[in-house]
Amino acid sequence: CSPLPSSAGPTSASLLCSIAWQAGASPSCTICPGVTRDRREAPGRLADLSFRIVDTAGLEEAGPEVLEGRMRQQTDRALTEAHVALMLIDARAGVTPLDAHFADLLRKAPIPVILVANKCEGGAGKGGLYEAYGLGLGDPVPLSAEHGEGLGVLYDALRPFHDAHMAEEAKAEADAAYAALLAAGAQARDVGPDGAALDALEPDDIELADGEDNDFAVEAIDPRGERPIQVAIVGRPNTGKSTLINRLLGEERLVTGPEAGVTRDAIAVDWGWGGRRFRLVDTAGLRRKARIENSLEKLMVAETLNAIRLAEVCVLLLDANMVMDRQDLTIARMVVDEGRALVIGVNKWDACTDRGATLQRVADRLESSLAQVRGVPNVTLSALQGRGLDQLMEAVLLVHGRWNRRVSTSRLNRWLQGMLERHPLPLGKHGRRLKIRYATQAKIRPPTFALFMTRPDDLPESYVRYLTSGLREDFDMAGIPIRLLFRATK
Ligand code: GDP
Repeated sequence: CSPLPSSAGPTSASLLCSIAWQAGASPSCTICPGVTRDRREAPGRLADLSFRIVDTAGLEEAGPEVLEGRMRQQTDRALTEAHVALMLIDARAGVTPLDAHFADLLRKAPIPVILVANKCEGGAGKGGLYEAYGLGLGDPVPLSAEHGEGLGVLYDALRPFHDAHMAEEAKAEADAAYAALLAAGAQARDVGPDGAALDALEPDDIELADGEDNDFAVEAIDPRGERPIQVAIVGRPNTGKSTLINRLLGEERLVTGPEAGVTRDAIAVDWGWGGRRFRLVDTAGLRRKARIENSLEKLMVAETLNAIRLAEVCVLLLDANMVMDRQDLTIARMVVDEGRALVIGVNKWDACTDRGATLQRVADRLESSLAQVRGVPNVTLSALQGRGLDQLMEAVLLVHGRWNRRVSTSRLNRWLQGMLERHPLPLGKHGRRLKIRYATQAKIRPPTFALFMTRPDDLPESYVRYLTSGLREDFDMAGIPIRLLFRATK
């Protein structure tokens, strides 16, 4: 899914694309011809990043006399409206005077700029890529928009800006809600300068203050919309991934074999099951031809990481006769670290010699090595015989729902009060009791909660775990990576 499809291909002139983050997912990633001749914009997506992308094409059409003015106009407009700018150069053509001119403008830009060296497919454009370092816009991202290569690197470059922006939004939202809370508290009783009376607020005050209703139900965003659920089947070579995908798709689209090394190129397949749409992201790279033995593991890690990032739910496929070895656990941890929902599929159940011991080992390993995501579902199946597939897909849907879980602010704060009462916060290093004043869910996918407190650095890890597992149990998010962000308030 390329955010820069049409424009970045044929042209050799400088291009500026700008990106504005959007909450919620956008279904499309194409750049459509837009309202004006010079500016095209569309919703875009790169894995889990959703944004509006503005393509300031048309620079190369203008004559030199108007070029400067138009460039400035377009650039200025894109820069004031966007959160990040991507400057594209044609790596094959090298850095042109126009690129250099553009870079001068962009170095003074009020937003971050990511330099993208396009047309680097298959390692081409090296010369231009190295020249691009000289533009003073940081490390260029080598990419091939036409071939869809390098999107992972672009993703990595964009991600920190996205996260920072989202955290800022969440903070602004929470600050506003917090101010409203204080205002409500001030009417009810006196609030000390440090907001101490907030502790005395009744949960009802909190509900009134943040303007939410009294609905105590946990709201799960039902992703029944048009967007397919992105699923990656990941695992060591030979655990049966291709066989499983063949089965799920109901036809022999991929080649399978007893030896690792069978390949396929397509990166994703759309498909329906139980009335829902899914997109299967393949980890074809695991079986790439270019296998240099000692780099196989490295290759596996890189390709698996790619697939994980493209997916929402990852099915980690195990071989029932060799479950949860080191590589299995590495992949499971990658899934969790990337904040994706995880389902464990114990494949080759038909050929499993000791089923009891196998399940016990899966459970033990999850408990000892993945304790931070307690409750990951595991499903036994035989891809070969087509058994257990329904259960597997049900588990995928289940974790997808949990991964999209949204907890209302009122319910969250009521819950927080209970947690704080059950286990009062310890004293901070300054000798005074720590206080968590307020919590709000900053984002979903994975569920991320912002907590506003005094001296976050003093909060012991054990208390963080207490809160995380409390959230997981009380809001039905078993097996889901939950993130907590602590922000300092007085
Ligand atoms: P991949 O490398 O993970 O894609 O694995 P493949 O799908 O190529 O399968 C590797 C081998 O395991 C093949 O010989 C498959 O026939 C076999 N296999 C896959 N699923 C099953 C299963 O459910 N039961 C058994 N007994 N063998 C399986």
